[in-house]
Amino acid sequence: MNLVLLGAPGSGKGTLAKLLSSELGVPHISTGDILREKVHQAGLLGKIVKPFMETGKLVPDEVMLNIIEKRINQPDCKKGFILDGFPRTLVQAEKLDQLLSDSNRSIDFALEFEVSGQCALKRLGGRRICSMCGADYNLYSKLPQKEGVCDICGGKLFQREDDKEDVVLNRLKVYREETLPIEEYYNHQGKLIRINSEPNPDMVLKEILKVLET
Ligand code: AMP
Repeated sequence: MNLVLLGAPGSGKGTLAKLLSSELGVPHISTGDILREKVHQAGLLGKIVKPFMETGKLVPDEVMLNIIEKRINQPDCKKGFILDGFPRTLVQAEKLDQLLSDSNRSIDFALEFEVSGQCALKRLGGRRICSMCGADYNLYSKLPQKEGVCDICGGKLFQREDDKEDVVLNRLKVYREETLPIEEYYNHQGKLIRINSEPNPDMVLKEILKVLET
């Protein structure tokens, strides 16, 4: 199954993407994670995308399409994939359909995760990531056993630069302006499924699986 996950920053789509990936046995492709890894490697691509990411702006479509084309053509995507954070513009959505149809594939559903702005701000403001293994925690809903330290590997927890409040507000604005039209794009194709993602992730997962089965 080929899924696209849509939702404002803080809507919980990353968490659900991981749960869905193990439930459905298909890879979770987060373009944010791919880009963060590039920045970490500090090569040319990393240097190009870093300033966009630090200010919450979108990385240019051309760069993103290059990345996604390579990723969805890898063998582990033959059974399907879950896209998290892509597409984020109409151009990306249209080009994705084109790329997939070149190999007789298509998107099955676009899941739109809905939360109130207040809930999104709280989730992002509270998010902490392990600097060593990447596990995520939350000051409001998923505290580590020892403050500031990862339960899994003992790594130090940190707050992502783009989870700080001024950048979050910009990311929410960018989402409203550039990404909402994508919802309409998939709605028009009859592929949009709206999901209330305020409940806890296990309940949301159950709801999604129920909807996908019907
Ligand atoms: P995320 O972790 O999905 O919130 O992504 C973090 C940042 O990476 C975003 O604020 C953008 O700067 C960049 N980014 C991730 N995916 C895309 C995309 N599909 N198009 C453009 N920029 C992206």
